[in-house]
Amino acid sequence: MISAFLVQMTKWETVKRILLALREEGLSTIEAISRLDEEDLARKIRAVNFYKTKATRLRAFASFVVENGGLSNLLKLEMRSELLKVNGLGEETVDSILLFAGHQPVFPASEYSRRVLSRYLGVELRRSEVPKLVSQNVTKDIYSFKILHAGLGSVGKASCLQGTPKCDRCILKQWCKSNYRYP
Ligand code: SF4
Repeated sequence: MISAFLVQMTKWETVKRILLALREEGLSTIEAISRLDEEDLARKIRAVNFYKTKATRLRAFASFVVENGGLSNLLKLEMRSELLKVNGLGEETVDSILLFAGHQPVFPASEYSRRVLSRYLGVELRRSEVPKLVSQNVTKDIYSFKILHAGLGSVGKASCLQGTPKCDRCILKQWCKSNYRYP
């Protein structure tokens, strides 16, 4: 959950290093974060991009969680609209938190998923169409959603790049309907 706040515009390796450091200090829980001074938190996460903004948002979220009965009370689909009111939490982040931390059956609409699925299926999808498409075509179980979300993200980062995709090294090239494969 903490990583969901730190990872935007930042390499995963950097986020992982910070998470391990926080854990070593006994600060890798939302409750511990809520007790930290905002400037202290900013110092501890300064290796990530936009660390001051992220510290403000993570600290505000941690307080919100503690004031609202803890994570077990908040990480439910019926609390999605409440989570969306928290500063810095957009739909993709909320849905990622609900899926990966709350184990709720919701598929986050990431740009990676939109791009890879659009090219793979040969149709231009809007981001908002992705969750419905996945729900209708993939077994609606949490494990499948997690694996698919992570897998599409990996393909998007490794080969299905925003500009010209690197189809020759893509694990989906055999089935992909994209025109990129037939220039
Ligand atoms: S084959 Fe190319 S266009 Fe299709 S998903 Fe892979 S990288 Fe993207």
